[in-house]
Amino acid sequence: MPKPILLTVDDDPDVLRAIERDLRSQYGAEFRVLSSDSPEGALDLLKELRLRNDGVALLLADQRMPRMDGVGFLQEAKQIFPDAKRALLTAYADTNAAISAINQASLDYFFMKPWDPPTEHLYPQLDDLLDDWRASYRPAYEGIRVLGTRWSPRCYELRDFLARNHVPYQWIDVEGAANDPEAKGLLDALGPEASNLPIVLFTDGTKLFDSAPAEVAQRVGLRTHAQTNFYELAIVGGGPAGLAAAVYGASEGLHTVMIEREAPGGQAGMSSRIENYLGFPSGLSGGDLARRGVVQAQRFGVEILSPQEAVGARVEGPYRIIKLANGDEISCHALMISTGVQWRRLEAPGIDRLQGAGVYYGGGATEALSCKGEMVYVVGGANSAGQAAMNFSKYADRVVMLVRGDSLSSTMSQYLIDQIKQTPNIQVWAHASVAEVHGDTHLEEISVLCSDTNKLERVSANAVFIFIGALPRTDWLAGLVERDDRGFLLTGPDLMKGGQRPKGWTLERDPFLLETNVPGIFAVGDVRHGSVKRVASGVGEGSVAVQFIHQYLSKV
Ligand SMILES: Cc1cc2nc3c(=O)[nH]c(=O)nc-3n(C[C@H](O)[C@H](O)[C@H](O)COP(=O)(O)OP(=O)(O)OC[C@H]3O[C@@H](n4cnc5c(N)ncnc54)[C@H](O)[C@@H]3O)c2cc1C
Repeated sequence: MPKPILLTVDDDPDVLRAIERDLRSQYGAEFRVLSSDSPEGALDLLKELRLRNDGVALLLADQRMPRMDGVGFLQEAKQIFPDAKRALLTAYADTNAAISAINQASLDYFFMKPWDPPTEHLYPQLDDLLDDWRASYRPAYEGIRVLGTRWSPRCYELRDFLARNHVPYQWIDVEGAANDPEAKGLLDALGPEASNLPIVLFTDGTKLFDSAPAEVAQRVGLRTHAQTNFYELAIVGGGPAGLAAAVYGASEGLHTVMIEREAPGGQAGMSSRIENYLGFPSGLSGGDLARRGVVQAQRFGVEILSPQEAVGARVEGPYRIIKLANGDEISCHALMISTGVQWRRLEAPGIDRLQGAGVYYGGGATEALSCKGEMVYVVGGANSAGQAAMNFSKYADRVVMLVRGDSLSSTMSQYLIDQIKQTPNIQVWAHASVAEVHGDTHLEEISVLCSDTNKLERVSANAVFIFIGALPRTDWLAGLVERDDRGFLLTGPDLMKGGQRPKGWTLERDPFLLETNVPGIFAVGDVRHGSVKRVASGVGEGSVAVQFIHQYLSKV
């Protein structure tokens, strides 16, 4: 951790050198001593230090300087570093001015020039000031910081991206800056650019304005470009199925790349608590499962490109070629599709406009904490909605589950139904669906249609989380890989019509169990037609498919 700073300001180079030398010899072991020969330069430096999240313990300024006097400087500096101790250096003639400045500008002390010997006229008083400062000093956060507003969809997208990719960051809501001197200091240091939200501040002092996930991904070291253009196994989709295939493939010696559009973990990564995955009797969060899977895959040498999206695929002889969203192409011998499913959109007026500003698809991992004491609605009656309701109930004042049917029993596992029944701040509202959402800059109310009474009820709401089933997004494979009418990929026996192998199939064997109509292209997990939509089944299919891949590769 960098040492906190003592900053001294004086336009007289001899005095500046002398005070700097005395400060350094006494305090250099614990503090960095910086100096500036002008108040304007010192203010610029302080802004830089604020953005880098450095700590400033003391500001010591000469009173008589051209353009801005010491008191003026210390007053402005207080806006940037409100907790730093502030002291003035004065000549005897300015004593009266210094005393009144102490009263008016709440300075902490004034020192008389010359201060010789410092052991008598400088250090004892500074020791007191620094002791005071130490007592309330909290070392600054040492990672990246994100400035934004809670209700901005762009800020939400970035925070969600960082959280799902396990990139630690500190969130600073600029709307609360009026009551938070630290945040206010940061905004002052940013000046007019402070309005280009979201802003990301990196530890080396650099910053990104109006930042999007892809830019930040590059800065934090997430890899989006492949190291080479050929792999034995390429996996598209980094949910449980893709991660399992990556771990098994690489551990068995296959040169493997995994391409993930958002963040490894897939849908499971959004789950607050998975309680039915073997080996974790007290459950584990989806984020934890994803993090462990990524570490395990990387240990075996899997190259992970994330965020990166596959947008097309074609076959050239023994090569399967994937086109990526950035225009790059990757070729491989075996291609595994594990792209899962994505949330179905809720069709109701206002939903698209307020998405990310109170309306969220999926678990909204970053939002749970912000829901403290609020009124939260969860739309859907399946396990994913139940888990989310349980999670939000820890923070929200009340959680209401809106379900179309007359109860949860037909759609949810019994263990979750039991938990929900025992949680007093969760209410299940049956025969209910969202008809409209209302609010200017963020969600304020929702209209709920009650199908049993055919009445519309308008209620206040801070957040709506939507879990209404999901569909595969496989258009990029159309014309190459056979799909059912909803877009799920057909594999193995599902491709055999009347005992006939699929059209264009030239090999003298049937497609393997998890192989598509294109030899060497496999599909596993939720994206596969007829799959069981569970973490364990995805992991199982991803692992088993690697055996078929070995058999396929032995004949390429
Ligand atoms: C909130 C929630 C809670 C759940 N709880 C449980 C539970 O408790 N127990 C349980 O067994 N199951 C649970 N499930 C279901 C389980 O998570 C899924 O069945 C499982 O994640 C499916 O894994 P998958 O790898 O097939 O697909 P997914 O998890 O859907 O992963 C697919 C991945 O592919 C990526 N992708 C998609 N298209 C592309 C592309 N073109 N290029 C690159 N990447 C792409 C996506 O971004 C995604 O990360 C839950 C699901 C949700 C949403």
